[in-house]
Amino acid sequence: MTRKQKKRLIKICAATVLLIAVSCLPIQNPVLRFALYLLPYLTVGFDVLWTAVRHILHGQLFDEQFLMSVATLGAFALGENREAVAVMLLYQVGELFQSIAVGKSRRNIAALMEIRPESAVVLREGAEMTVSPEEVAVGETVLIRPGEKIPLDGVIIAGNTAIDAAALTGESLPLEKQPGDRVISGSVNLTGLIEVKTESIYADSMVAKILDLVENASSKKAKTETFITRFAKYYTPCVVGAALLLAVIPPLFVGGFAGWLRRALIFLVVSCPCALVISVPLSFFGGIGGASKKGILIKGSRQLEQLAAADTFVFDKTGTLTKGNFVVTEVLPVGMSEEELLCLAAMAESHSAHPIARSVTRAYPEPFDRERIRGMTEHPGQGIEAVIDGRRVFAGNARLMREIGITPAEPSVAGTAIYLARDGQYCGCLVITDEIKEDAPAAIAALQKLGIRKTVMLTGDRREIAQYVGDALQITQIRAELFPADKVNAIEELIAGGAKPAFTGDGINDAPVLARADVSIAMGALGSDAAIEAADVVLMDDKLSGVPAAVKIARKTMRIARQNVVFALSVKAAVLLLATLGFANMWIAIFADVGVAVLAILNAMRTMR
Ligand code: ADP
Ligand code: MG
Repeated sequence: MTRKQKKRLIKICAATVLLIAVSCLPIQNPVLRFALYLLPYLTVGFDVLWTAVRHILHGQLFDEQFLMSVATLGAFALGENREAVAVMLLYQVGELFQSIAVGKSRRNIAALMEIRPESAVVLREGAEMTVSPEEVAVGETVLIRPGEKIPLDGVIIAGNTAIDAAALTGESLPLEKQPGDRVISGSVNLTGLIEVKTESIYADSMVAKILDLVENASSKKAKTETFITRFAKYYTPCVVGAALLLAVIPPLFVGGFAGWLRRALIFLVVSCPCALVISVPLSFFGGIGGASKKGILIKGSRQLEQLAAADTFVFDKTGTLTKGNFVVTEVLPVGMSEEELLCLAAMAESHSAHPIARSVTRAYPEPFDRERIRGMTEHPGQGIEAVIDGRRVFAGNARLMREIGITPAEPSVAGTAIYLARDGQYCGCLVITDEIKEDAPAAIAALQKLGIRKTVMLTGDRREIAQYVGDALQITQIRAELFPADKVNAIEELIAGGAKPAFTGDGINDAPVLARADVSIAMGALGSDAAIEAADVVLMDDKLSGVPAAVKIARKTMRIARQNVVFALSVKAAVLLLATLGFANMWIAIFADVGVAVLAILNAMRTMR
């Protein structure tokens, strides 16, 4: 609890004791009784009255302080001393609740902020210098001791260690790392001293991107949220106006001014839209914060709302449903040795970040002179073109070969074929195979259990392989041999057909698709930076089980937000009706206001778990 919250709690307790004491005193004199009731009232309500006065002087009417002041002073005027104090008291209880809840959801986000590195120890001319992470350039060497946060993304050049990435991924198992492995900023170095060669400046690092994303999460409002804010703007003046009419018009005809004034005051107490105005954004904030603890970053409430509403889940294949860790199973050269073909492929692929390229370079660990590779062009969804030793080399699928006038024979073994051609001459092919991610079948099944009828796989790979993966995972629709642009068209077709597609990809070749889908999910750590920027939801690790987990959180959050809206509005409507008819008293009004607010906040806090 903060100091302000403690102060409020003390005031509430003191006022409660005073209220009970005063109620027990057998005092008949009404003036003296009023004076005594003022004690607890001012103890707990002075701030509210004072704020109301200040706001009125600034021309700010109809805020909650004003409404509470008018309602309680009105109750005093009617001689309902105890009710007047109780309204103020419970209003403060509601305020306390609210600030505790907001504080809690802030802390959830703040826990994530802990990943921000304060400084970096950089090696410059043999000496260690402690600088802020922003001052480290690409390619510098930073020294990270056990227990320290990794300040920038990079590759280990010396030292072995274990890394704790729990703050980023929610995965608490430490990861063993050795020279050559990548480490990600924001994770914690656990056991060994390491030297890391930086790969990006701080502003482009993972930690900066995540913090940016989280800090901006609350600015993207959900439709439900904007609706509530707009609604509150009209609701309060309308109810206050109705209260005024109720106090003035009926007495002109039927008399009984005090009775009607009492009804009008009840209106004022329920006119405060606090429960709605607080609990709906709080639900979203809680949901986003709770998800971030599990390594699921949702960029805003709007994205959360869309994720909850998505009815068709579309997946990229390579790197998303499959591991993207291809193994070269076959080397089939034409007119050269296997060694030469593998070397040629590795050189051609050496500058690409595509999972295929990385697997091919891994299969040929021999060093080669990088100067020999000149131009490099990626043909998305097809392959690579590079100039090696002055000769033009193509490496890619059959479509790429056909484009340069070669029709290669399909290898008889199963797998994805990478064909190679040099200076228009066919050189043979490599066959590579990929594995389905271990948790993919469970993730797809979980989505189906969540009521998702339609799952779609989009891939640039051959139809046979696509069919094999699709069948293994029980995906309902398979579309193969697509260019990146075809994938965008496929999403557009789904949207035109009335579906609300959510697209999940690893960000390699699919940033345009991520941008086009209603809601897009990027597999984080392995995904490209472009994906993290284009996607609405980022899974920090590359586990597919994050997709159903994110959907569950989004739906739960939406359910809670909706419950709060319906609950608060119906209770208020009921009380307004009862008050008009003369069946409600101040106590019921207090419940309708504070009770509903507290219940709604408690309900909203369920999203944080
Ligand atoms: P997916 O849709 O499964 O994610 P991509 O669109 O990235 O796959 O690639 C589609 C196909 O294009 C691959 O199956 C492969 O045949 C070919 N291809 C793409 N990039 C490369 C590359 N760097 N080297 C060789 N072939 C590639
Ligand atoms: Mg891909």
